Amino acid sequence: MEGSSGGRFYSRNPTILVIGGGIAGLGAAQRLCRHQGFRTQLLEATDRCGGRIRSESAFGGVVEIGAHWIHGPSKNNPIFQLALEYGLLGEKEMSEENQLIEVGGHPGLPSVSFSSSGKDVDLKLVEDVANLFYTLLDQTREFLHMAETPVASVGEFLKEAIHRHLSEWTDNEETKKLKLSILNTFFNLECCVSGCHSMDLVALGPFGEYAMLPGLDCTFTEGYEGLTNCMMTSLPKNVILFNKPVKTILWNGSFRDEHSPKERFPVQVECEDGEKFPAHHVIVTVPLGFLKEKMTTLFSPQLPHRKADVIRKMGFGTNNKIFLEFEAPFWEPDCQQIQVVWEDTSPLIDVRAELQDIWFQKLVGFIVLPPMESAYVLCGFIAGHESEFMETLSDEEVRSSLTQVLRRITGNPQLSGPRSILRSKWHSAPYTRGSYSYVAVGSSGDDIDILAQPLPTDSLSSQFQILFAGEATHRTFYSTTHGALLSGWREADRLISLYDSETQQQKFKL
Ligand SMILES: Cc1cc2nc3c(=O)[nH]c(=O)nc-3n(C[C@H](O)[C@H](O)[C@H](O)COP(=O)(O)OP(=O)(O)OC[C@H]3O[C@@H](n4cnc5c(N)ncnc54)[C@H](O)[C@@H]3O)c2cc1C
Repeated sequence: MEGSSGGRFYSRNPTILVIGGGIAGLGAAQRLCRHQGFRTQLLEATDRCGGRIRSESAFGGVVEIGAHWIHGPSKNNPIFQLALEYGLLGEKEMSEENQLIEVGGHPGLPSVSFSSSGKDVDLKLVEDVANLFYTLLDQTREFLHMAETPVASVGEFLKEAIHRHLSEWTDNEETKKLKLSILNTFFNLECCVSGCHSMDLVALGPFGEYAMLPGLDCTFTEGYEGLTNCMMTSLPKNVILFNKPVKTILWNGSFRDEHSPKERFPVQVECEDGEKFPAHHVIVTVPLGFLKEKMTTLFSPQLPHRKADVIRKMGFGTNNKIFLEFEAPFWEPDCQQIQVVWEDTSPLIDVRAELQDIWFQKLVGFIVLPPMESAYVLCGFIAGHESEFMETLSDEEVRSSLTQVLRRITGNPQLSGPRSILRSKWHSAPYTRGSYSYVAVGSSGDDIDILAQPLPTDSLSSQFQILFAGEATHRTFYSTTHGALLSGWREADRLISLYDSETQQQKFKL
């Protein structure tokens, strides 16, 4: 049935397309499919669902190429709730005790800290420096909602504060230098957390808007992708179409479907393979990185100036993981995290060198993964341009560079290097183009809301033709899986409310 309501294409059985099968898209599709009468189809560019949730079998176990932790696993976290529902969490992760722990978003301290000259760094010193760094980082939250900030970025704020502290340090010169090098590692770690090249790119004012939930971050023993697999299999058959990269979304039109020639649709989605899908509504969940690269060809007509502008301004950087597989561990059995401190570095000094000579200095260290079948595996984290450069190297080049690094930091020139490596390449991934979003200098939380606004914004024409979901559209939980899931639910609910109120209005007219 079709009609027109206030200029809107009205159908009791609207066709809704979801673009992207990450957790935002799957979450939206799940809700829409539960609503009677909606014809829902999900188009995914690749041959799998999950997007940036990606677990791979490797080294006789499972490793996370993308999302690693449930951040803040407690009752208000929808990922935690869904994981509980599907029975994917262990006793410890589910415990009340675990849910109550508050860490304020700060990663735990390392079990061992190696310096680039092969010495163990005193862990008490590392703890003192961490306390300073996180105290200053917590201060950045105080600028939320202030009309003006003393400096534009989180990086500048931290550096100015460190400058002031430096003059009060009574340590000898050597210790002062070491403290700055440790601080440099914490800056690099924060780049991994924010998924940016430099904290100088992250806006100070809105930084405190990112919300943290209680609960000690936890992992999925069988892999994060178990969650998206459960969501995927809960959908009716044939809802998901794989290998369907969307090329263009034509909107504000009047399109026909050859199978139901009487019906008119305001939107038509065209895939790379030429197949066309007319629809009443499209929920776009592609990553911000993809939007940045393709927005001028993805939408026809082009996005309104205001939305295109925020897509350009918002931040989307790279954080990658490098897994190293060893025959035998060179670390102690109780070691959980290895920190790497590059001596003679400082957050107060800009490095000017060729990326190929220094890329590995951006690697903050490694977490020790639980022992696998017959392998011992470290997972390193690296962000920024150095991370993007790393993606261009061969496995052998990365393995060889990191073997040199490990020999250097352990002071053991005979140390056996990793027997194999595996790494993510999120910047080169054509349907992602980076890792996750941050609020960049020149941008704000309002821009996130603008990105999330459905099109067209003009209420006289057909409503909600294109809706936007995905982690980058969640104002307080951007960059997370729970933010992505909530955004998918938000847009599905928007359509459900529209049709529920529409049905009510039609009833009154009868
Ligand atoms: C290295 C890394 C570590 C992370 N760690 C964590 C963590 O520990 N905890 C956490 O909460 N979050 C983490 N995240 C972030 C988290 O993974 C994401 O926020 C979340 O998975 C994003 O979900 P999404 O549905 O918005 O996007 P995506 O998962 O990117 O899904 C988008 C989908 O759209 C598809 N697509 C793109 N273009 C097209 C097109 N033209 N046509 C059709 N389909 C298209 C893509 O193939 C993809 O499947 C991490 C991310 C990375 C990269």
